Amino acid sequence: MKRLLTVDDFLTITDDKCIDYQNKKFSAYVQHQLYPNSTYFRKLFKERGVKPEDITCIEDWQKRGLPLITKAEYREHLQDMVIDPWTVDGKERTLDEVIEGFIRLQEAIGELETEFTVANLPQKNITAYFGTENFSTFKELAKKPSKDSDAAKKVRQALDYAYKPFTVFFTGGSTGLPTPIRFTKLDRDLCKQATIVEFYISGCEWLMKNDGEVRFMQFYPFAPHLGWMGTNWGSEYLSDFLITTSGGGVLPVEGLILMASRFQINALVGMPGYLRNKFLRKALELRKLMPDLKFADYVICSLGGEKIIPPVRNEIRDMLHEMGTKEVRITGAWSASETRFNFLGECDAFQETGYHSTGWDKVAYRIVKMKSTDDWEFANPGEEGFVVQFPMDGAGTLIEAFLLGDRAVQLSGPCPVCGSRVERFVNPLRANELDTQIMVMGLVEQKIKGASVNLTDLRTQLMEMPEITELQVIVSKQDLSDAGSPDILKIHCTPVDDISIGEDELIEKVKAKTKVLSEITPEVKLMDINELLGDGLKFKGIVDERPKG
Ligand SMILES: [Zn+2]
Repeated sequence: MKRLLTVDDFLTITDDKCIDYQNKKFSAYVQHQLYPNSTYFRKLFKERGVKPEDITCIEDWQKRGLPLITKAEYREHLQDMVIDPWTVDGKERTLDEVIEGFIRLQEAIGELETEFTVANLPQKNITAYFGTENFSTFKELAKKPSKDSDAAKKVRQALDYAYKPFTVFFTGGSTGLPTPIRFTKLDRDLCKQATIVEFYISGCEWLMKNDGEVRFMQFYPFAPHLGWMGTNWGSEYLSDFLITTSGGGVLPVEGLILMASRFQINALVGMPGYLRNKFLRKALELRKLMPDLKFADYVICSLGGEKIIPPVRNEIRDMLHEMGTKEVRITGAWSASETRFNFLGECDAFQETGYHSTGWDKVAYRIVKMKSTDDWEFANPGEEGFVVQFPMDGAGTLIEAFLLGDRAVQLSGPCPVCGSRVERFVNPLRANELDTQIMVMGLVEQKIKGASVNLTDLRTQLMEMPEITELQVIVSKQDLSDAGSPDILKIHCTPVDDISIGEDELIEKVKAKTKVLSEITPEVKLMDINELLGDGLKFKGIVDERPKG
């Protein structure tokens, strides 16, 4: 089978072939990567009496009685969910055994090539590169490794490329216990290839047709998470020109605006809140002083990191028109570090096409309805449920049947705009009701200013401060009547009776500790215990007061 699929495949595959491809690759991947090389999942299969060959399609995961995996479960088994071909049930494998397994995997899920043309355009080919030997060369080399030969080194390099984790992304912010997602170099390159497809459909093809070039500026807040890193990795292959910045980072917004005008940036990638509240507002102010300040004629905005609501989207479009742009395309993208290489992206946000599964050849998404992680079923198209991932490529941290903590509805039929028949979803939203979140994730995590902050951990760590007796963590909006205004974090706390420091000092201490734990400076208010607990019968340690919908 083909290991990876092109943009053309994405646009033309039929429903049956899409599902068939995912089932075949998933089944082969479970047999030749997940079961032999994941300590956690091998144990799980054995406990449940499931053989790897019983999994012939994604639906079999449920039919064979396998559970869904929550974030809390993952956090308890971090190391056991990292793919490791070198040991099995506590015993070491020989080099020959590892090589055999590696060859079997490639024969089953498709061979990796050094170069892969993702999109074949009239103007140019967009190619992803993989830093490894072609499969046929690898097999030749693997026949003759002696201890210090050149072949042996190359074989080892190819195995390290595929299996040795070389970087981590953190999910759940850096609160308390950071949850690392490990990436191998192969995973990085798969992520780059996936990002090409995502950007391609979210407007880059349109830009190439209208402008001839793609000139990116990314301004996600910098952090080792998929939004920032994936954007950087993927835009490198697609763009003719690239400025990587960090929204709210070192460069002042005025500097970014001048650069966007000077280099005629036509692809703006970042968070809608930053683009609307800081970047474009400031740009319009500057334009009054500098009438020559003008943005490119055709501009795409690929936005993510927080919910994009129609009024904000329309305002961004209107503001860009005021900056001299003739035509604007705005799309949303959504992902989670745990998926590693599947970005859900819109092809045209104004036409409500839903979020397309652009990395559908590497991670399948399905919607489930669940009562518990053991009592669940796949939802029908049109039914709302929770998004679950079924990865089928790569190594590093591999969490099969993982509940991402987001609710969505799967759409059926082809996309009315691009015609693609891969999975599409509406409302990939974090399950905001906190009780539901506890059920699907085992903890509470919210996106605030683009960073996922684990509120459960944050509260636990703050409660350890000797000066505090009770506290509440509140996610809110700077202006609750404006759904597009920035998210803020508030901490309400009650000091202990015999507190040894002054009120101002305590407030500063809580701010500093929260900043270290979550990278966010909160608004802190001290209050009497009765005021904090309120008159409700059930005090909630974590509250989300942002408007719903
Ligand atoms: Zn589409």
